[in-house]
Amino acid sequence: MDKNDKTINNAISVGFTNAVWLENLKIECEPRLREYCNPEGCPKHGNNWVCPPGSGSLKECAEKVKEFSQGILLQSITDINPSSVDYAVLNKKHNLRLQNFLEEHCKSFAKVLALTSGGCVFCEVCAYPKPCVKPNLRMNSLSAYGIDVGKLCEAGKMEYAFRSDKLYLIALVLIK
Ligand code: SF4
Repeated sequence: MDKNDKTINNAISVGFTNAVWLENLKIECEPRLREYCNPEGCPKHGNNWVCPPGSGSLKECAEKVKEFSQGILLQSITDINPSSVDYAVLNKKHNLRLQNFLEEHCKSFAKVLALTSGGCVFCEVCAYPKPCVKPNLRMNSLSAYGIDVGKLCEAGKMEYAFRSDKLYLIALVLIK
């Protein structure tokens, strides 16, 4: 089994529904998606390291992404009941899974850049503006980086949709 297959197996073992290795990545950081990160639209803006301004400008995010050409796309799919679903709880579960994956299976890589939705869950309360306690593993925001999740899923041939009976959550771990 090669290292990429092992990484995919490790992702499934921590509970992700799907995991796909992506090569030759050329990820675009799009201003139209970064626009959703604003103080009026999101309560997380300005109080943690992974949302603006802590995340850095879109240009700075794009520079970081450019360093990577490969990574693993991770997906959590959950059946939901629209009348009782708690999206924040499901997003937290997805990110706790990501935390487990990063801590248990990614420390041997030379460098990783983890991206997800819903904020970093490494600390109960983000240390911002004091220094980040896990700068090399922290969960950066797909929105702050202006990354189109639909395009990523297309590249990974993963099912992705906005549905009332299923929730699709995505994370991307860029790897060197
Ligand atoms: S690791 Fe902690 S301090 Fe760093 S971004 Fe995540 S929650 Fe904030």
